[in-house]
Amino acid sequence: MEKQHTIKKSVSISGTGLHTGQSGTLTFHPAEINHGIKFRRVDLFGKPIVEALVKNVVDTSRGTTIAQNGVKVYTVEHIMAALRASNIDNVLIDLNCEEPPILDGSSRIVFDALKEAGYEEQDAERKCLKITKKIVYTHPKVGCELVVEPADKFSIDVKVDYKSGVLNVQEAHMTDISEFEKEFAMCRTFVFFQELEMLLAHNLIKGGDLSNAIVFIEKQVSEEDLKRVANLFHKESIAVHEGGILNNVTLYFENEPARHKLLDLIGDLTLLGMPIIGKVTAYKPGHFSNTEFVKLIVKKMGVAM
Ligand SMILES: [Zn+2]
Repeated sequence: MEKQHTIKKSVSISGTGLHTGQSGTLTFHPAEINHGIKFRRVDLFGKPIVEALVKNVVDTSRGTTIAQNGVKVYTVEHIMAALRASNIDNVLIDLNCEEPPILDGSSRIVFDALKEAGYEEQDAERKCLKITKKIVYTHPKVGCELVVEPADKFSIDVKVDYKSGVLNVQEAHMTDISEFEKEFAMCRTFVFFQELEMLLAHNLIKGGDLSNAIVFIEKQVSEEDLKRVANLFHKESIAVHEGGILNNVTLYFENEPARHKLLDLIGDLTLLGMPIIGKVTAYKPGHFSNTEFVKLIVKKMGVAM
């Protein structure tokens, strides 16, 4: 039998939100038994709480956004993944703006901060959801499929397919959550070069500075295009690496994008409100499908929310 866990002491992290460009601080506080994972908007009157549960998901267009009584917290998935991988059940997360800092585009900084704070075992049994039947979610338009089957422990297999010359079929596998720290925590988000200007035009990625994302370049890009994007991000110059990625970063793993998709899926699954015990297989996962999959699990397994 596993026990519930919180952290030993409070810990803070500051940085800039990817889409809003707001600078903000996240502070993780220890919380009591059965508290769960909750955000608290300390910049707003009355310090409203937003529970990190799938029923509160309101938008999945560029990340997973949750809201309760109209109060939003954007892009929670990398934090949720770090909490799950740290086996933390109970934590209160203060945030002084709408969007948590993107940091390096991965879960590493949050994971390390929680580890530094220390894990505290609590005197209550951890509630887990043991999957008892196969559950399948498909999204025919996207061509994605997410499956969970009964198994003795939590594992994930992910396959992505972008039909792109620089990023096509990739797989990532996690057989135990203990692999997260060394194999997945540092895997960063990614974007296609052609999306960058569109995102900027839509007033998104205001906090992107080309150091917190892998940028894939599919087609030939002219010097002018590179210069223009460099200007938008206030860089002197940018160039294309071999393998079709921008020279802003070097890959940690050849399949870092698939590993990041696995990280995102762990984060979204954590919105179930308790760890899953079962084998998850995902083909072309994304935040919309991930959160719909979690809602389906809630329904099929009769989870009280
Ligand atoms: Zn992500």
